[in-house]
Amino acid sequence: MDARDTAQICDVIIENACIVDGTGATRFAGGVAVERDRIAAVGDISGWKADETIDAGGLVIAPGFIDCHTHDDRAVFATPDMAAKVSQGVTTVVAGNCGISLAPFTQGNGFPPPFPLLGDESDFRFADVAAYRAQFERTPAALNLALLTGHSSLRVAAMGDRLDEAASSADLDAMASSLRQALAEGAIGFSTGLGYPPARAAPQQEIVELARVLREFDGALYATHMRDEGDHVLDAVRETVETGREADVPVVISHHKCAGPKNYGRSRDTLSEIAKARKHQRLGLDVYPYTASSTVLLPEYIRESEDVLITGSAPHPEAAGRRLVDIVAEWGCTMDEAVERLYPAGAIYFQMDEEDLKRILSSPGAMVGSDGLPGQERPHPRLWGTFPRVLARYVREQKLFELENAVHRMSGLSAQTFGLQERGRIARGCYADLVLFDPETVEDAATFDVPAQPARGIEAVFVNGSIVWQSGKTTGARPGRFVHH
Ligand SMILES: [Zn+2]
Repeated sequence: MDARDTAQICDVIIENACIVDGTGATRFAGGVAVERDRIAAVGDISGWKADETIDAGGLVIAPGFIDCHTHDDRAVFATPDMAAKVSQGVTTVVAGNCGISLAPFTQGNGFPPPFPLLGDESDFRFADVAAYRAQFERTPAALNLALLTGHSSLRVAAMGDRLDEAASSADLDAMASSLRQALAEGAIGFSTGLGYPPARAAPQQEIVELARVLREFDGALYATHMRDEGDHVLDAVRETVETGREADVPVVISHHKCAGPKNYGRSRDTLSEIAKARKHQRLGLDVYPYTASSTVLLPEYIRESEDVLITGSAPHPEAAGRRLVDIVAEWGCTMDEAVERLYPAGAIYFQMDEEDLKRILSSPGAMVGSDGLPGQERPHPRLWGTFPRVLARYVREQKLFELENAVHRMSGLSAQTFGLQERGRIARGCYADLVLFDPETVEDAATFDVPAQPARGIEAVFVNGSIVWQSGKTTGARPGRFVHH
């Protein structure tokens, strides 16, 4: 019988590839057959025919990367081609982190930092997750998005100008009911930003009560930007572990770090606390591969940094890219006065030790999340560079871990932790979210000086079976989905 008669037909074949399937398993040679939005076959695909065949030339095909820590809530509408992310091989972003989600939000109740990280107050125009999701489905982005519900967003709605207090039982009821509605409408979990002004006054019990709502929804999880990432980071880890245990929900520690020179080396303690807890409860963490952080410009972060760069300032756009100490010298004022004059502003804080970073990045349960801040004049390079940087600097150059291990932390582990079904793996039946890259040349190009630069070595990126990045450019395709449990 002629092979042609028995061949199965699909839309796209990627042949002659080195498959790193996202589970952490050893790479193997073979191909991937894609039919509509799904993976139809993996490995030996000699029995498949397609209109379009891509010869991978031995390059690596991996599951599209999942950026499990983002603030892309608004970016997916403002820049739907999402070049900063798809150029790195990212095919799904988890938004709504650090307690601030674009939805649900009630305007006119206050707009404290760090809300400006996501946009102006007028951008917060979604009263509920259903409205946000409908907008995303009407005008999809190039990549998939899953949304967490921010505790500070709920707090602003329920408590308005009383953010410096603990929630009353009426406040708690209001927040719990909004959270319940958000989860029912497709949010995948709950996030806090306990180190930020709108949530600092929230006692642990407030978080426990709200996190308990998650138990009503399969797969829902709690992600936390902890109360402290500096001198009291170990206390913050303990609080987080206890909150997860008391609420009996899975927890992710966001952008884990030990900030400030006097805390360098303390990841030994935090990671051992985390490892201890992981024996009894579901606990993971995300981390970005840089020793500088970035968020709103606030005096307390300056104090625990070696150096500070301004990423953008509404009243002083010319300050973007400059060192804060130089601005203070030029203006002849105090640091606090400069901060006040620059606000609302964003900054990059050099405040971590690379040994801590490497220990955290390679620790059990650690996933890669960029924490990239879109919409800033001179963003932290993590926005464009995170995933290729892990592959270049920590896999190829420093051999911190194997490629398979790194890819797992960028795809399969994140999908499993965040409950993103049928994503994060190259397996028959899974969504065809794929990245084709050259493991010898893949490298971040974004720097602190020139941060908005696509990485090298990312050859092609598929989202739900459609090519969104090829030959160094976005293709214009917008196949992204609103991903929910
Ligand atoms: Zn954060």
